[in-house]
Amino acid sequence: MYKSLLIAVNALCVATLWSQSPASPPAATPRSTQSTLSVHWEELTAAEFREAITRAQGTCLLPFGIMEKHGPHLPLGNDLLNVRYAALNAAQQEYAVVFPEYYFGQIAEATHQPGTVAYSRRLQLDLLQETTDEMARNGCKKVIIVNGHGGNNSLLPYFAQTQLDTPHDYVVYVEGLPEGGPDEPKHKSNPATDMHAGESETSLSMIARPDLVHQDRAAQESGADQARQQLPEGLYTGIWWYARFPNHYAGEGAAASRALGEYEARTWITGIVQAIRAVKADQESLRLQNEFYERSRHPLDTPQ
Ligand SMILES: [Zn+2]
Repeated sequence: MYKSLLIAVNALCVATLWSQSPASPPAATPRSTQSTLSVHWEELTAAEFREAITRAQGTCLLPFGIMEKHGPHLPLGNDLLNVRYAALNAAQQEYAVVFPEYYFGQIAEATHQPGTVAYSRRLQLDLLQETTDEMARNGCKKVIIVNGHGGNNSLLPYFAQTQLDTPHDYVVYVEGLPEGGPDEPKHKSNPATDMHAGESETSLSMIARPDLVHQDRAAQESGADQARQQLPEGLYTGIWWYARFPNHYAGEGAAASRALGEYEARTWITGIVQAIRAVKADQESLRLQNEFYERSRHPLDTPQ
């Protein structure tokens, strides 16, 4: 009874949060007191920022989107809008400072489509490094990159691995894209190809930014797998995505529903809240990093 009541209360809190757009809080909201300290980096004064970093225990979020086509029915900034929706709601539940809009990731595979913004690989890594360096210089000693774009799935763990190249006085964590659970509502389309602007993603957008979803246009193009490349599983090429989904659309946006979207938003927000709490409690990663950097300077002294 208690458990179900608690879940109901939690669900109510989440529903209350959903009813407010985190991107546009009411104009009259006071922001100068501790209880109403904004989670948006760019909304804080310098003095409030110092207070915010203390309150966040040095934990900051870097929601990572992209600018790319999302089928015939969703906006170019869909991943940026959705990841910020999830991250901002999570940070309001478990306080963390959220970095401004960031969409400088890997999207070479969509450069044949209008509106894609694709930076070179050098710039992707340099800009991300300088961004997390600047966050850390300002007190974000625990940076959680919240990924909102599947094309970053290789880039971000690689970036985290390269933090071992040279000593850093902060830790980079990567929160990957959310995965469904056993209580997920049944999908109407094939989950195997529901990968980009399809049923799941369109459903989430119906919660995060319903004003930008043009579901009536979702069937104007095919999001079917065109299977134009025959290679064994495990043999990778960069052209695999274009070979399968040349319209940069994978799945059926027309099958989307608010019910699925509410599940997806709740799951994602809960996952980020759990990540923030785990990172705040983590005292080991930085200690181990420092031990590792020190040992790396003289590997012959490492006990064998
Ligand atoms: Zn997307």
